[in-house]
Amino acid sequence: MTTPTIELKPSSHPLSGAEREAILASPGFGRHFTDHMVTIKWTEGRGWHDAQLVPYAPLSIDPANMTLHYAIEIFEGLKAFRRPDGSVATFRPEANAERFQRSARRLAMPELPVETFVEACDALVRADMAWVPAHGGESSLYLRPFMIATEVGLGVRPANEYLFIVIASPAGAYFPGGVKPVSIWLSEDRVRAVPGGMGDAKTGGNYAASLLAQAEAAEKGCDQVAYLDAVEHKWVEELGGMNLYFVYGDKIVTPELTGSLLAGITRDSLLQLAQDLGYKSEEGRVSIDQWREDTKNGTLTEVFACGTAAVITPVGLVKSAGGDWKQSGGQPGEVTLRLRKALLDIQTGRSQDIHGWTH
Ligand code: PMP
Repeated sequence: MTTPTIELKPSSHPLSGAEREAILASPGFGRHFTDHMVTIKWTEGRGWHDAQLVPYAPLSIDPANMTLHYAIEIFEGLKAFRRPDGSVATFRPEANAERFQRSARRLAMPELPVETFVEACDALVRADMAWVPAHGGESSLYLRPFMIATEVGLGVRPANEYLFIVIASPAGAYFPGGVKPVSIWLSEDRVRAVPGGMGDAKTGGNYAASLLAQAEAAEKGCDQVAYLDAVEHKWVEELGGMNLYFVYGDKIVTPELTGSLLAGITRDSLLQLAQDLGYKSEEGRVSIDQWREDTKNGTLTEVFACGTAAVITPVGLVKSAGGDWKQSGGQPGEVTLRLRKALLDIQTGRSQDIHGWTH
């Protein structure tokens, strides 16, 4: 596979420092975008070519573009953090690059070499370094690499042209007022993904499939949906955009990768980090009955969700057709908060990174 070098064509009209600082004072999530983007094309027979860093701008898309009709799209999400010395680091970008390759394989799209994915992220962070929020809080620059088919036509088959793009958006602290437990609606009839489906690929269709259940959760007054497996409707899988961990005293357990849930990079990091902190960690199966019973009998002490956006989010309340229950008395648990701090300290360069996760 060829790995093109990225040609730099920086913007002649970036936002002024004052305009940028006004956005960084209150960035929200995914609302503002930096001055540049990286684009790389792929064409059948030619491979990857025309890698460029260009001004952020709308795309011009033919109405018969295959992605618009058949959802031929994959994406990633990772963050760049400002460190105490003013430098900037991304967190495990190679792991995102590898997951992007797995997603590409699942959708019969071309695989971008890992080093090209990482170089594209680096080039964008370098060009828009001033957009990375100051060290101190939990703010970061969120990077969104994605790929679409660009071939025009209505035939259903793998396309012969694709476009890879990376854009970046400053992200404020997920919990500006301190870590707040979320409420979960346990969806017992709708599923997110099925065995043999695309649940382990990060593709737009999975998120489209989750919107109705998410809307139902909102109607029930819940923040997030938890999905069960699609066959027995019994085993807990994950949330619409985060993995789950169950804390049993000094052991943390996360649902095993069955193929229908996403292999989160935060999830994977926590399997290791928990052990560094002296906890036990394992992948396993947790049924919905176990979740309910073990909370009642007190052995399941905490539950939290994890993912790039919110890092670690305690679960405070679970609602289901069969009844509701409070988790950890509705408060963030001790293990949850300790893991959260340890992970953020590594990501933001406040503590030593013994696993070489920061880049
Ligand atoms: N599950 C789903 C469905 C997700 O969209 C995400 C966010 N990428 C995660 C889990 C968490 O993955 P990560 O830790 O890599 O952000």
